[in-house]
Amino acid sequence: MDRVHSEDLYHVIFDNAIVAIGITDKEGNYSLVNKAWCDFTGYTEEEAIKLKVRDLTPDEDRDQNDEHFRMLMRGELPSLKRRRRYKRKDGSLFWAELYVSPIQGKDGGINGILGIFTNIDNEIRAQQSQNELTGYLEKLTEDLENAHSAMQKKNQELQSAYENLERLARHDSLTGLYNRRSLEEIIETEILRSTRTRRGFALAIADIDNFKHVNDTYGHDCGDEVLKLVSQIFLDQIRQTDTVGRWGGEEFLFVFPETSCEGALIVLERVKDTVKNTPLTYNDQVLHLGITIGFSHRDTDLSLEKMILEADQALYKGKHNGKNQVVCFQDVCTSGPEDEKEAL
Ligand code: GH3
Ligand code: MG
Ligand code: MG
Repeated sequence: MDRVHSEDLYHVIFDNAIVAIGITDKEGNYSLVNKAWCDFTGYTEEEAIKLKVRDLTPDEDRDQNDEHFRMLMRGELPSLKRRRRYKRKDGSLFWAELYVSPIQGKDGGINGILGIFTNIDNEIRAQQSQNELTGYLEKLTEDLENAHSAMQKKNQELQSAYENLERLARHDSLTGLYNRRSLEEIIETEILRSTRTRRGFALAIADIDNFKHVNDTYGHDCGDEVLKLVSQIFLDQIRQTDTVGRWGGEEFLFVFPETSCEGALIVLERVKDTVKNTPLTYNDQVLHLGITIGFSHRDTDLSLEKMILEADQALYKGKHNGKNQVVCFQDVCTSGPEDEKEAL
């Protein structure tokens, strides 16, 4: 290929390249641009040769761009590949992938810069959209997770509020023992069980001796302290399978499923003695307490109503016989009145 032909070929390549090609002098003035360059920037070739690289550089990118230009001119950078923004003639910006290299003159010095770039605006915008979408999805996931844990927390609060309500509904607020409603439910269940097993069932009513006297002498608050103290003693003294609750006022009910008459008597005697041996100190006063307990024991024909009546009658008998004692309605294992002074 002779010289003329090769120059024609360079022109063909230069003008038909789909990449933008621009050549500048030492000062960054454009001296030659191709058609793609004009298409991307919006300038004509005539306009381009009156422009500097700076004119196509957004203000905020100029310092960095100048620095790169200087380094290339000084030979400190053999070439450069980077993504940068260009400012079109209409002021709008676009992203380009740029390859720059210094142009060496015949004397070996650098007398200009060759810049080749492609427009990657669509790619960058797609990337930005994807980043935005990813960010949005991450935020959405985080929001969902937060909403989920807030809901879990609310659920737990609801659950514990519900459990609290349940507990309140089933327990006496002063003593913390089961209330009458719970006791009735428990007794029905235990009666069914003990009917099946025929191992015996005992039901006892305990009544604090001379409680009115405590209220009248030391005040209602002191009476409340007595109720709390005996309740704790009851809880401490019974087995896990037994139940105690507040039946009303200063009366308490004990349930002993699958228990012999003697077994119930032993526990109830222990309960009575512990109350007697646990004085209450209230406002520097020492109060000695006592309780009377009546109970009914059956192996068959278990009935809540009947056994309550029987326990009540036994209790009445105990009160009548001098209090501070345990009485069995069936009279087979009554411990008998104690020849002790009244507790109060
Ligand atoms: P007894 O030895 O025969 O059992 O006589 P008592 O004084 O213990 O019996 P009484 O039935 O005459 O008195 C029971 C008292 O219990 C009357 C009532 O004011 C009091 N009482 C009932 N519930 C409470 C309560 O929750 N707190 C207090 N402080 N007193 C209560
Ligand atoms: Mg009473
Ligand atoms: Mg009483």
